Amino acid sequence: MALKLFGTSGIRGVVNEDLTPTLALEAGLAVATRVSGGKALVGRDTRVSGVMLESALTAGLLAGGSTVGHLGVVPTPTLAFLTKEMKADVGVMITASHNPPEYNGIKLFSRDGMAYDEKKQGEIEEIIERKLFRTVEWRDIGKIRRLDVTHRYVDAILESVQLERSWRVVVDPGCGATCDIAPSILRKLGCKVTALNAQPDGFFPGRNPLPTTESLRPLCRLVRELGADVGLAYDGDGDRVLAVDELGNVVPLDQALAAYAAHVVAEKRGGVVVTHVEASMCIEEAVEKEGGRVVRTRVGDVNVAMAIRRHKAVFGGEPCGAWIHPQYHYCPDGILSSVLLLKMLEEKEASLSSVISEVPAPPIIRISLACPNDLKPKVMQKLEEVLPGEFPTAKEKLVVDGLRLAMGDAWVLVRPSGTEPLIRVTTEAKSKREAEQIIGKTARLVKNLVLETRA
Ligand code: MG
Repeated sequence: MALKLFGTSGIRGVVNEDLTPTLALEAGLAVATRVSGGKALVGRDTRVSGVMLESALTAGLLAGGSTVGHLGVVPTPTLAFLTKEMKADVGVMITASHNPPEYNGIKLFSRDGMAYDEKKQGEIEEIIERKLFRTVEWRDIGKIRRLDVTHRYVDAILESVQLERSWRVVVDPGCGATCDIAPSILRKLGCKVTALNAQPDGFFPGRNPLPTTESLRPLCRLVRELGADVGLAYDGDGDRVLAVDELGNVVPLDQALAAYAAHVVAEKRGGVVVTHVEASMCIEEAVEKEGGRVVRTRVGDVNVAMAIRRHKAVFGGEPCGAWIHPQYHYCPDGILSSVLLLKMLEEKEASLSSVISEVPAPPIIRISLACPNDLKPKVMQKLEEVLPGEFPTAKEKLVVDGLRLAMGDAWVLVRPSGTEPLIRVTTEAKSKREAEQIIGKTARLVKNLVLETRA
């Protein structure tokens, strides 16, 4: 069986257990082998293990003849943008995004700023597994340069977005990679910024790198106490943003995505918006009202980015707060998203809570059912045969990622987990009662199929 190191977002794991310096060194060697030396940009988030992994990975890159540019602590979107902007052959981001502090990861970007897809990740895995490393002679070992170029990313945003109003904003980088750059960009745009958890700290003492309604309570309180217009919170590497409205409530993620998508479509007078199979149907409702169309992909930001390019979409994103603005680049960008969110409020002359209140919020139910990993393909295959029979009103069957049936004003998605022995069932309907009926019917069927297949 082929070595499987990469998940949906690169190599990810607990440091010194799954992700060791040895693996980082081999990843560096494999990357240098794949791009035949070339120019590599390397960035990292604020994790304690960042410098250790950066050193090991850099040794591998240098041994393979790559010229390495170190960016230091930068958000993932900044690394991706600069990879494209500086025409590097590869961008390497050392981050575990929103995972707890003991994790770290390696995410790779192509010359065009797009994250490595499954095929490219597979090539790196094969080089590591078969040890097909290509090292250079002593005289050709690469050089390291410390690059101070993040201003190029900042300037690109400042050149294209201007804010008329002086917004009162509370920013919570959560001690992650956006600590300096997010408050700084917002101040340069004329916002009055109060920052919380804005000291880089790999122990993440303020909150978990994953922003949640629970972990953002201090931010919500501060927004209320200061009478701020908006609160903004980023995940550990800044490709996601969660917004807090002027009343101090965390904005529901699907509704935020729908509202912004509809705004872009209205401005462009139509166009395609890309999101994944698990997102709410309020996105279709909002986008279609403005004359746009929604395309659904597999879960994972790379899949969304590739579909955006394929369909020449005007915007795309995942409801975890990872929004992609293709006119800038193809990496989800939390900082850029927050700036564009403020611009939207300015253009609509409305508060965040009132913009969000216009988007319908149908009830969504998500459950997980036990299913051994080896039974998943069989269970899913049988389900594809029998589930449509349970929902005769289904108009659309989508199998890009799991099985998704759309019944007009309701849908159900059955999707095996990529990492755990679970099958996840998600449903959304106009009423809670209807959603409960759909989930009950589907769950019974899945449970029976698991039992039958096991027998
Ligand atoms: Mg992230």
